[in-house]
Amino acid sequence: MDKIKNMSLLSCLCEKTASSIAVTNPANDQVIGFIPSHDNTAIQQRIGLAKEAQKAWAKTTAKQRAEIMHRWYQLLMDNQEDLARIMTLEQGKPLAESRGEVAYGASFVQWFAEEGKRAYGETVPTPLADRRIMTIRQPVGVAAAITPWNFPIAMITRKAAPALAAGCSFIVKPAIQTPLSAFAVAELARQAGLPENLLVIVTTEDAVMVGELFCQSPDIQKISFTGSTNVGRILMRQSAESVKRVSMELGGNAPFIVFDDADINLAVKGAIASKFRNAGQTCVCANRFYVHDAVYDEFSEKFSNAVAELEIGNGLEANVTIGPLIDEKAKEKTQRLLNDAVNEGAMVSTGGHALDGQFFEPTVLTNVTHLMSIVQEEIFGPIAPVIRFNDETSLIEMANDTIYGLASYFYSRDINRVFRVAEALDYGMVGVNEGIISTEVAPFGGVKQSGIGREGASQGLDEYLNTKYICLGGM
Ligand code: NAP
Repeated sequence: MDKIKNMSLLSCLCEKTASSIAVTNPANDQVIGFIPSHDNTAIQQRIGLAKEAQKAWAKTTAKQRAEIMHRWYQLLMDNQEDLARIMTLEQGKPLAESRGEVAYGASFVQWFAEEGKRAYGETVPTPLADRRIMTIRQPVGVAAAITPWNFPIAMITRKAAPALAAGCSFIVKPAIQTPLSAFAVAELARQAGLPENLLVIVTTEDAVMVGELFCQSPDIQKISFTGSTNVGRILMRQSAESVKRVSMELGGNAPFIVFDDADINLAVKGAIASKFRNAGQTCVCANRFYVHDAVYDEFSEKFSNAVAELEIGNGLEANVTIGPLIDEKAKEKTQRLLNDAVNEGAMVSTGGHALDGQFFEPTVLTNVTHLMSIVQEEIFGPIAPVIRFNDETSLIEMANDTIYGLASYFYSRDINRVFRVAEALDYGMVGVNEGIISTEVAPFGGVKQSGIGREGASQGLDEYLNTKYICLGGM
């Protein structure tokens, strides 16, 4: 913590007490600090305060809200280095990736500051001469969110920025492993002039309690969740009783396809970026690689050589490109999937070992087949299984053979194939000749069991607005 210049970012830290929560560094298991734990009563109280604050916020103009959000954006960028350091300390990703995430997270604040001004209603041609018909857009009210540890800032700003721009208040429970980034982002919003109780962070080790409370509370009108499909299902079930609006950004199982007409060097570059960013712990990570028979050996060799050059270590050290896995459970899952694949006939082309602590060697597996568990499950670790394919029709069937539908990628230089395959892939997002596709200007989200709703773009604002129809009669 000694290198953090702006200590106000860490004002959430508290003394160690019987109820406080320890935050640890996954690179060395050392305790970074302690944060308060909020019980059911404290969280209910904060929901009540957020409800009150929202009433006044909804009365401000989009322009006034944008002014505060632009200041918030600027403070996020001014503090990029400190925020990145805090993120690497609690999450483990390399510092360069953390800097990138701060900028990516901040981009949603800047984007939605402006997008909020475009929450247009409509005037609709009337079918009856004595009436005029129009719609207006209004904030849903109090929005609540539960977020994961893999993108500790972006997963919050992607929700908080559209919510605040729309005129909602926002209460979030960040993942227990990465609360410091959440508090730091909220502190900068406060410094930017955001009125009290509009961006509220609650922390507890009892995620189940918060989930139930958010879903059941009559004062919360909207739940936005990013995390596993399993927890998403639970939250949707719990929200049914109060008929809440939900947005769900859930798990993925992204295919990464290399056709025989692909630029192989470009595909290798995209594969490294897509698979090994954040040590393979992203929902849009390439999970399984399908490579055409004619280029399988060339791709596998070039890919394995590039993977062997990745540098594993503490994300704070220069040149490190792969940090630790988030916890022991993640390491065990990665090891289990590797063992199963090898037992079923996969061959280790590079890597293949768990290392001390929570580190795992980036690994490429060849001789993999479509039905292996490493292909069927979301790996969420640094293993790339490479499968051989021969024809496009059966390839599309395999690529779509999953309950998930978040991101997908393919490499081809045939323009007809580009359109044909992009349209045939049953996914919310398709990267063509590109391995990193997330941006604030495009709608991020999945189909099938990867979720409901979109984040970013104009669609991201819709998630926090209700459309009201007004009919003027007696004209
Ligand atoms: P997770 O276990 O679902 O946890 C995510 C969040 O949910 C955490 O804040 C967690 O709290 C909380 N949680 C856990 N059980 C809960 C319950 N019963 N009720 C209410 N909240 C509960 O997911 P994860 O392992 O942290 O994250 C990885 C998953 O997220 C992957 O499947 C990944 O694909 C997905 N993801 C999706 C997107 C997307 O945009 N589609 C983006 C990133 C990640 P605690 O921290 O206290 O456990």
